[in-house]
Amino acid sequence: MAKRDYYDILGLSKSASASEVKKAYRKLALKYHPDKNPDDKVAEDKFKEAAEAYEVLSDDTKKQQYDRFGHAGMRGAGGGGGQHMNMEDIFSQFGDIFGGGGGGFGGFGGGGGGRRRRMKGADLRIKVKLTLEEIATGVKKKIKVAKQIQAPGVEHTDCSQCNGTGQIRRVTNTILGAMQTSSTCPSCNGSGFSISSKPSGTDEWGMKREEEVVTIDIPSGVENGMQLNVRGEGNGAPIGGVAGDLLVVVEEISHKEFQRNGKNLHHDLYISFIDACLGSSTEVPLLTGKAKIKIEAGTQSGKLVRLRGKGLPSVESYGNGDLLVNINIWTPKTLTKEERKTLEDLKKSANFQPETGHGERGFFDKVTDLFS
Ligand SMILES: [Zn+2]
Repeated sequence: MAKRDYYDILGLSKSASASEVKKAYRKLALKYHPDKNPDDKVAEDKFKEAAEAYEVLSDDTKKQQYDRFGHAGMRGAGGGGGQHMNMEDIFSQFGDIFGGGGGGFGGFGGGGGGRRRRMKGADLRIKVKLTLEEIATGVKKKIKVAKQIQAPGVEHTDCSQCNGTGQIRRVTNTILGAMQTSSTCPSCNGSGFSISSKPSGTDEWGMKREEEVVTIDIPSGVENGMQLNVRGEGNGAPIGGVAGDLLVVVEEISHKEFQRNGKNLHHDLYISFIDACLGSSTEVPLLTGKAKIKIEAGTQSGKLVRLRGKGLPSVESYGNGDLLVNINIWTPKTLTKEERKTLEDLKKSANFQPETGHGERGFFDKVTDLFS
């Protein structure tokens, strides 16, 4: 099934403000909440869909990425499907939406203590270098990522300061009567846990830094500077918390034969002025293999030849770009006596005088011609 547009899911236009995004999500979350719709698979799917849309559109970086590249920019790890949120992720998100513990959403989320805040690992950012050949086909990359993970053997108990609720409650007497306020427990950061034993070499939460190999599924047609989000492959979080995302920034390795211009590739071809005069056929390199092109007799330097569909795919649109071959006439740097003699004889011919004013059009005009 094709993924729905995140703005459509929330019923918003692309110009929606951050507060409109929040409001729209809040409305849907309340409507499709599993507590209100027990055993309703459709409601659950809608609930998850809305949460995913909110997750992306409420995050400036992810939103920009989505606005530019659509779902392709949000590709998950290990073959695409890994991007759906699970319920735990969604409930951990509610802290922002419904104002921490006060939102009336206690009592769900598994493991009891619904007001406990699940900790979230930080997002990590890495660069991945790609050749144009890899970009043309898309590629799976295995990359070592140094990240925080929970060390094995960590044990925890309920936090003694908040009795495992994650919240500190205080009752104050005011002229309006007794008022109860609650705030996040400073001792456990709202998680409700404290670490009772942990291996050496780990931090206060039993976390340590380790290298992990992550497989990243890179779609074809990505561009330099584009960022892909791989859900859950960033830093881990203590005690069953939610891992951050891995943000993969694409770095394009320059190619010796081609310059890239969006979906199109440019190649500079050099031919002898003799071939330009007489006509010939020659080979040009492609990203995979080669193509033959015909040089017409009387070809001028700077002529552009377009090979349709031999450029790159795009993550933003359908179809491949083109390869534009720019024909250059190569001039010999040295001449033998005989060659010089032949050329001096030819020089007298009127055919060798440039037709000033009737020459080839400028480069940009020619590019425009090709695409009009
Ligand atoms: Zn606590």
